[in-house]
Amino acid sequence: MAFHFEKPPGFDFKPGQSADLTLLNPPETDSEGNIRTFSIASAPFEDQLMFATRMRDTAFKRSLKNVPLGTVVKMDSAMGSFTLHKNSAKPAVFLAGGIGITPFSSIVRQADHDRAAHKLYLFYSNRRPEETCFIQVLQNLEKTNPKFSFIATMTDVPRSKETWNGDTGRINRDMLSKYLDDLRGPIYYIAGPPAMVGGMRKMLVESGVDEDDIRTEEFAGY
Ligand SMILES: Cc1cc2nc3c(=O)[nH]c(=O)nc-3n(C[C@H](O)[C@H](O)[C@H](O)COP(=O)(O)OP(=O)(O)OC[C@H]3O[C@@H](n4cnc5c(N)ncnc54)[C@H](O)[C@@H]3O)c2cc1C
Repeated sequence: MAFHFEKPPGFDFKPGQSADLTLLNPPETDSEGNIRTFSIASAPFEDQLMFATRMRDTAFKRSLKNVPLGTVVKMDSAMGSFTLHKNSAKPAVFLAGGIGITPFSSIVRQADHDRAAHKLYLFYSNRRPEETCFIQVLQNLEKTNPKFSFIATMTDVPRSKETWNGDTGRINRDMLSKYLDDLRGPIYYIAGPPAMVGGMRKMLVESGVDEDDIRTEEFAGY
């Protein structure tokens, strides 16, 4: 589920960064408190700030979903270094598991806007197409940015309500090799639940990718 906020004047961030969001007077709260870290899913050039989250039955998320439009939240400065490397001669390969798409959503939107010189590959793994956040936007960006390749893969097509003609199964070495000329060379970025991030890092290292070329963002709490 995506949430849109007015961008405070002067609020600055880099694509890929996150921010702590505090609910000020939530209708309910629990022992986990009223603060969560979210990656900013919108791009700096856009007027609004957008966050997206996997809805779960927690007090914070029930509150976020139920507060009226116009509710004021507190947001701290953007933080983190999960941002695109400078050397555009090196391709970027993004590996997203589910809601781990949010930092990449920001990066590829901004790259499209800036006509960035980097080659970008986004591998995006979900169970089913109907629960795949931003899929339409990302498919459209692939059409407008010739340097951007979008590879969505579904791991549970048999239980999907929608037909799916794209890749299936988890992101693995074979899937990467299908789209990348050489697994060694790009800078890899992995975002998602800690178990997914750990699994992808292991797979990359076993495939010969240099650990220095792997950057990760673990969505602790999943
Ligand atoms: C840099 C960063 C970016 C993130 N970006 C997003 C995003 O864009 N979208 C999104 O949906 N989520 C994101 N998350 C995860 C988010 O902050 C929440 O942890 C997550 O949404 C779960 O919240 P919840 O209310 O569902 O569960 P919670 O009520 O928070 O409970 C989840 C369980 O995880 C444990 N837990 C919570 N926080 C931590 C922690 N920091 N370390 C270890 N255990 C913890 C709790 O104790 C609890 O057992 C991000 C996290 C980080 C660190």
